[in-house]
Amino acid sequence: MSIEREGGMYYLYCDICGEKTLESFFDFYDAVQHKKQEGWRSQKNQGEWEDVCPECQEV
Ligand SMILES: [Zn+2]
Repeated sequence: MSIEREGGMYYLYCDICGEKTLESFFDFYDAVQHKKQEGWRSQKNQGEWEDVCPECQEV
């Protein structure tokens, strides 16, 4: 799970590089929207969903 709650805010984490986005979100839904807009990708790995930031995606 790579949308994490921290201090009442939501943050996005990349499951590959572990990097946290600078943006934080009040709303879980906003975090999901941001993920889509920025080109993050969800992929299934060994039965678990992981989120991959644009920089870690193979082109
Ligand atoms: Zn990454």
